[in-house]
Amino acid sequence: MAALDDLRSDVRSWLAENWDPDLTVRQWWSRIATAGWQFPTWPDGLGGRGLTAAEGRAVAAELVEVGALGPPFSLGQVMGAPVVIQQGSDEQRARLVPPLANGTESWCQFFSEPEAGSDLAGLRTNAERDGDEWVINGQKVWTSGALAASRGMLVARSNWDVPKHRGLSYFIIDVDQPGIEIRPLRQMNGQAHFNEVFFTDARVSNDNLIGDEGNGWAAAVATLAFERSGLSNRVPGLSVALPGEKGRMLDRPAGQVAAGPSDTGLGSRAFRSSTEIAGLAEERNILGDRLLRQELMKLKTMGMVSNWSAQRAREAAKAGQSPGSFANTAKLQGSHIGRAAQHLGPRTLGAGGMLAGDDAPHSGQVTEMALSVPSGSIAGGTDEIQRNIIGERGLGLPKDVAVDREMPFRDVPKSS
Ligand SMILES: Cc1cc2nc3c(=O)[nH]c(=O)nc-3n(C[C@H](O)[C@H](O)[C@H](O)COP(=O)(O)OP(=O)(O)OC[C@H]3O[C@@H](n4cnc5c(N)ncnc54)[C@H](O)[C@@H]3O)c2cc1C
Repeated sequence: MAALDDLRSDVRSWLAENWDPDLTVRQWWSRIATAGWQFPTWPDGLGGRGLTAAEGRAVAAELVEVGALGPPFSLGQVMGAPVVIQQGSDEQRARLVPPLANGTESWCQFFSEPEAGSDLAGLRTNAERDGDEWVINGQKVWTSGALAASRGMLVARSNWDVPKHRGLSYFIIDVDQPGIEIRPLRQMNGQAHFNEVFFTDARVSNDNLIGDEGNGWAAAVATLAFERSGLSNRVPGLSVALPGEKGRMLDRPAGQVAAGPSDTGLGSRAFRSSTEIAGLAEERNILGDRLLRQELMKLKTMGMVSNWSAQRAREAAKAGQSPGSFANTAKLQGSHIGRAAQHLGPRTLGAGGMLAGDDAPHSGQVTEMALSVPSGSIAGGTDEIQRNIIGERGLGLPKDVAVDREMPFRDVPKSS
């Protein structure tokens, strides 16, 4: 505990000398990444200091305390950098991680395809070696933030003659190139958070192959685990999404960005907690409604159980034990909480809960939240898939039936 207090006091002194809201975002992120406080759990020299998760949270708490701008948040920071740190070479770590640490790059995730989502290992985007490069052909879909991304984590098939999980390779590919076409897809909440992406003779250097050729499944599984735990561990009000056109926010004053809302494109996460919805009920003077109070208590209980699960996983990690299928449980709990809030939020607002847009009650954020909730049960692996994983890895139940697991992928019928 004393060690945590000392750490917090170090961070406080550093912030007193270094946080300046008039710096541009670029200047601030460069300064804090160089000092190693940007992503404290990342290694020394790569934007971090090799601290534990608990120490990282203590650092985040100090940033929140002084209202300093938090770290950049794209899929590159959530899972790209952790995977490169874990599975890349020293050269790849030194080259690929710093631009994520200082927020000058945002990455996207080229995994899902029209016929390979839950069954990700069934993907058909092809990677063919050509000298020092690989040539990529195929289609991805649901690619969040592709228009804002400089690079993407790409899983493609480099060998069709081995079973499906063994023929995949994992690349970090440059998005700005003639062989990549990005088409935005509009969602029911009005935003165009994700895209379909077409690869036609796109190129990626062999220097950007993470791990060995044919070993992409291991990197893909690690990416998904970082995604599940990273998205649910995000510090509310601290991390800053890198939305819109590339680098748009980097030249704005850091203080201004810190004070503004953070846009994930997935819809506002506001009004998902029992406290926020109770606030709405209080405003409308309906907190005496017993049925409403009962629903609010259910939401609160789910939030508390979710926090305890996170605490349990942290304690297990601290004791050197595996947190088990925690990331999957956390994701599933997030979906349940989202759905409970989805019904309760608009109901609390009464007829106003049906209105959308800036001039609706609470700037339409309650409706936007309600329309955005379904995506949480799909993104990062559906609820059903989380249950399968918890059943198989957590509870030791038999594996899902898969007739195509051991046959060469070339012989697997399409859409099997
Ligand atoms: C908001 C959002 C953002 C996303 N961002 C990205 C991104 O940036 N990059 C990316 O690559 N992908 C992204 N995705 C895609 C996401 O990972 C896939 O949508 C997801 O994995 C499900 O795949 P699918 O849509 O092909 O559905 P399918 O796999 O076709 O599933 C259809 C239905 O069948 C069920 N099902 C399938 N298999 C099983 C099984 N074995 N057991 C039980 N039920 C099963 C599913 O649960 C689902 O209900 C995003 C999705 C959303 C909603």
